[in-house]
Amino acid sequence: MVRPPEYVASIKPYVPGKPIEELERELGITGSIKLASNENPVGPSPLALEVIKEITKDLNRYPDGSGHYLRSALAERLSVKQENIILGNGSNELLDIAVRTFMRPGDDAVMAHPSFVVYSLAVQSLGAGSIQVPLKDFTHDLDAMTDAVTERTRIVFIANPNNPTGTMNTKEELDRMMERLPEDILVVMDEAYHEYVSDPEYADSMKWFSEGKDILILRTFSKIYGLAGLRIGYGIAKSEIVTEMNKLRPPFNTNSISQAAALKALDDTGHIDNSRRVNEEGKRYLYGELGRLGIRHVPTEANFIYMPVENSMALYEKLLRLGVIVRPIGPGAIRVTVGLPEENKRFIEAFEAVIKPLSR
Ligand SMILES: *Cc1c(COP(=O)(O)O)cnc(C)c1O
Repeated sequence: MVRPPEYVASIKPYVPGKPIEELERELGITGSIKLASNENPVGPSPLALEVIKEITKDLNRYPDGSGHYLRSALAERLSVKQENIILGNGSNELLDIAVRTFMRPGDDAVMAHPSFVVYSLAVQSLGAGSIQVPLKDFTHDLDAMTDAVTERTRIVFIANPNNPTGTMNTKEELDRMMERLPEDILVVMDEAYHEYVSDPEYADSMKWFSEGKDILILRTFSKIYGLAGLRIGYGIAKSEIVTEMNKLRPPFNTNSISQAAALKALDDTGHIDNSRRVNEEGKRYLYGELGRLGIRHVPTEANFIYMPVENSMALYEKLLRLGVIVRPIGPGAIRVTVGLPEENKRFIEAFEAVIKPLSR
């Protein structure tokens, strides 16, 4: 039988957050809530939904493979040229393309642990290695990550804010890293939660782009824009980097519906402001309730909260039986997405019911 290379056979597949339908099918329950995948609980932009109806009549046509209108709107908004923007089927695809463009088998990439697991999966898919540097105080330890760079290192992955911990790195820390890194290394700055950040110390990564650094900034329409189901994200980098990545980008990687919807969502400031407000209020409520329950939690710059807990799998399973889906992170933590007020309340009630007998 045909066999993949050993580095593919040994991949542990990505486990997505459990879908609501799956849980309800398995347990024969209804009315469950999902706070497991950092989706926007407010929903998609209504303006984006409107345009989708118009687009459907042209679905016999291939999409614009260059994504002209969306790239042009993004370029204008970011004060860069269109040639500095690349669209992806989710920013996930762009991570993958960056790895395949700039890494060879036997190279390595530096990343934090725990961080977004897709980084190491992408790297392993071509027989390259991951150097995983433990977080310090739940935050990327950028000095240690810079020290971990070898002569085989091609990419350094930074999630800012980090998933699963919701922490961010400051301008100063990032500046020091950018100064110290060797020149022939690509920094992939994954800013999936960029629009949620409220800390004034948050770094404007466009600064390093403007300085001509080898940086690929990744953003997405999956989180605050509420379009996770459409799969669309974008990268910002110097044109030399975009040009090389475009050689490996499938010609029609983003479809006509997602391009049009993203273009509308980008300008729907009402939806974005409202989503940010719902998140801030949800955060405050959850901080208060977790404090009341004596549950340790990491302050977040994103739309999810990381809680170091004992026996996270048992906790996760018990919450599932109460119709509440969260994300277990290894054996020692759970991550919960900030939901709508009623969802947050439902989570706290279930959490309280589940931890009481455990802590007795
Ligand atoms: C959700 C997320 C993404 C976005 O993935 P898409 O493919 O754009 O949906 C990227 N990076 C991190 C760290 C994330 O949490």
